[in-house]
Amino acid sequence: MQRHITPSGNTLVTVIPGDGIGPEVVRSAQRIVEAAGAKVEWEEREAGAEVFRKGLPSGVPEETIESIRKTRVVLKGPLETPVGYGEKSANVTLRKLFETYANVRPARELPGVRTPYSGRGIDLVIVRENVEDLYAGIEHMQTPGVAQTLKLISRKGCEKIVRFAFELARAEGRRSVTCATKANIMKLSEGMLKRTFEEIAPEYPDIESWHLIVDNTAHQLVKRPEQFDVIVTTNMNGDILSDESSALVGGLGFAPSANIGNDVAIFEAVHGSAPKYAGKDVINPTALILTAVMMLRYLGEFEPAAAIEHAVLVTLEQGILTGDVVGYDKGVSTTAYTEAIIGNLGKRSERWQVREYKPIRLPEFDPRPDYVHPASRRVVGIDLFVESDLPAEELGRSMEELVKDTAFTLKMISCRGTQVYPPTGAITDIVDASYCRLMLKEPAEDVPDEAVAQLLARVSSRHRWTHIEKLHEFDGEPGYTKSQGEN
Ligand code: NAP
Repeated sequence: MQRHITPSGNTLVTVIPGDGIGPEVVRSAQRIVEAAGAKVEWEEREAGAEVFRKGLPSGVPEETIESIRKTRVVLKGPLETPVGYGEKSANVTLRKLFETYANVRPARELPGVRTPYSGRGIDLVIVRENVEDLYAGIEHMQTPGVAQTLKLISRKGCEKIVRFAFELARAEGRRSVTCATKANIMKLSEGMLKRTFEEIAPEYPDIESWHLIVDNTAHQLVKRPEQFDVIVTTNMNGDILSDESSALVGGLGFAPSANIGNDVAIFEAVHGSAPKYAGKDVINPTALILTAVMMLRYLGEFEPAAAIEHAVLVTLEQGILTGDVVGYDKGVSTTAYTEAIIGNLGKRSERWQVREYKPIRLPEFDPRPDYVHPASRRVVGIDLFVESDLPAEELGRSMEELVKDTAFTLKMISCRGTQVYPPTGAITDIVDASYCRLMLKEPAEDVPDEAVAQLLARVSSRHRWTHIEKLHEFDGEPGYTKSQGEN
């Protein structure tokens, strides 16, 4: 991990105060970090609402990107995407620009924060893949009435997040890693995380590991959350599970997070800019304070990190609580809460423990794009997606005629993932987007372009095709799934 060390020997951190309540929570965390004697210095930069309003569509100015390139560590407040300015979130831009592939969201029971789970000792961390999956944002209208989002999961992305989760478990002295996927339905994409997890887990014999279907994980999190330690999961699943787990321990005011990559790490609370509380000195800064604690541990500043965590625990134990916990008529101000924590630096809670942390060993990977090299590969056919308002039987008969004397045979037609031709007896709603599974009469290492061109010319004479997927086999394994009802 590269860092920028200042002449006084401190680590330089880019700090982005952000929008709404951002400047208040960030200032609170900065004051506490400074009071704890951590060896950091700040370089303040802007991003978010004001930048959008100045007309920069990304919401992240070049000076901010420059600063992050130099410091490689960011402590940031929440950023708003004001309605009507820009279409991309400045948060997502920052996470993606610097390949922060691991989103780490701990959820721990805290003293004084009463929840239905109080006393059960919840102390878990969700490790969410942060770059791929449905969040790649690759969407197309296949037809006027059918939208599609690509869920992209790479073997490299899976290895990175799985190894990261096991390394995090080791660094935090945790006993188990659970992999949560929807591999029972999405056998190739979600299945890739499951398979990768099962391959890598034996390299960490000191850590217990098991796979759980994600819907059951959500159910188990509500039923028996104390069974979990580290949960590793894909981006969308992680988004949902991590909000669920933060609700178990008191909600957004207490939910810290880190976005970690091999080059850059961005530390931010889970919550947003909560504009209705902005400038009122009433909101709960704990999430950002605990986020700063995560940052200090990442920087190897273990002592000030532990001192701050102890001081937060002692403050909460003393019943010093903000309005989100006890009501805004009774809660202390953000400033008073911050000062109480500063006053408690050096004290330790008798009842509430702080974990022993070791530096995390970030996994390293081959940077080449062709990450997986199969020993053999061939193309056995294509799926040709067509827009058609014909009944399935009619479309099927038409396609049979069109593919006659080409390199392909029609195996079946599927609409919304269910075989509709040849008919299976299923009662299925038909829409105007279908795919025709066309098998090559002679499978080869690749499908000849001329064969595809001939086929498209034939099909276009009667139907509108929208796109093509090749049906690959890698190492003899089909690289495509069957439609419901397909044999
Ligand atoms: P939000 O800002 O997180 O606020 C939702 C509610 O959560 C607040 O109204 C408040 O609840 C509670 N809350 C959040 N943070 C709190 C804190 N520190 N202390 C006490 N209570 C807190 O979510 P939002 O209203 O959906 O989003 C507002 C803006 O933030 C949007 O522009 C959104 O895009 C942005 N956002 C940014 C990030 C980020 O930068 N990472 C993340 C999420 C959202 P009560 O109303 O019940 O008191």
